[in-house]
Amino acid sequence: MAITIVKDFCKGCGFCIAYCPKKVYDLSEEMNKKGYRLPNPVRIEDCTECSLCDLYCPDFAIVLEKTKKKAEEKEVR
Ligand code: SF4
Ligand code: SF4
Repeated sequence: MAITIVKDFCKGCGFCIAYCPKKVYDLSEEMNKKGYRLPNPVRIEDCTECSLCDLYCPDFAIVLEKTKKKAEEKEVR
C-alpha cells in the first residue's frame, strides 16, 4: 500500500490513527498550513489494505494506492 496524506485537507481529527486496526499511523510533529498535526504512516509494512482509514477520514485527506501484487491477487479471485 502506498499512503499519501493530502496535507492541506487534513484537520488533525485523528480518526485514521484511532481506527486503523493495525496501528499503522503515528501523530507526527509536522503541521500543515492550518496548524494541524499530521498523521504519519510509520508502520506501513503492517497495513492490510483494509481501506478503513480512507473511509473514516472526513476530509478526503488520505489517498491509498494498493500495491500491484495485491491488486492483481484480488482480480484473480
Ligand atoms: S488501509 Fe487499513 S490497515 Fe492500512 S493504514 Fe488504512 S486502516 Fe490501517
Ligand atoms: S482522518 Fe483525515 S483529517 Fe483526520 S487526521 Fe486522519 S488524515 Fe487528517
